[in-house]
Amino acid sequence: MVGKTGPTVGVLALQGGFREHEEALEDCGARCVRVREATDLAGLKGLVVPGGESTTISLLASRSGMIGPIQELIANGVAVYGSCAGMIMLADEVLDGRADRPSFGGIDMSVRRNAFGRQVDSFETDLEMSVLPGGEFPAIFIRAPWVERVGARVDVLAQVADGHAAGRIVAVRQGRLLATSFHPELTPDRRVHQYFMEIVKGDA
Ligand code: GLN
Repeated sequence: MVGKTGPTVGVLALQGGFREHEEALEDCGARCVRVREATDLAGLKGLVVPGGESTTISLLASRSGMIGPIQELIANGVAVYGSCAGMIMLADEVLDGRADRPSFGGIDMSVRRNAFGRQVDSFETDLEMSVLPGGEFPAIFIRAPWVERVGARVDVLAQVADGHAAGRIVAVRQGRLLATSFHPELTPDRRVHQYFMEIVKGDA
């Protein structure tokens, strides 16, 4: 029952992996609300933008009149977490994006879509994340973006350790905004969602 009494967190449910995020957030004590139109944003303490296809999420968000209201929610300091396509949606600049598919923005970073290359559709690697207790995090990447530039206010939380993408930034935080290139909702490890819930509650 803990999931029914915790802070209310919205999960943008236009397209992509929102169900897995709901499950992970509820495991961490959130009360989840599916966000499909702007009125669903009222009273949220946090919002998750899931993975999927950023161009489709952008199109559907703009059709349902949510780009402005979500930008406003970000400006008002509500905690927001974006994974994969969600990371792209939180980037102030999208490389290899589509000019007619705007992001929400909020994090002063440049993110490249599908950056790991077509031959590396998906892969898993262990990441050192300084903000998480308990050692490396098993990170699943699916046609993932990486971060090519961060502004001074952005904290880098994780970089790829080895291989052709060694050193690439794959997790960041700016204030109450969190973004990962990878999909923690697809693993039973809840530490990234727990960390986000600490941001929601003002404890991290
Ligand atoms: N390649 C997708 C995009 O550009 C992101 C993939 C994902 O979210 N798994 O939006």
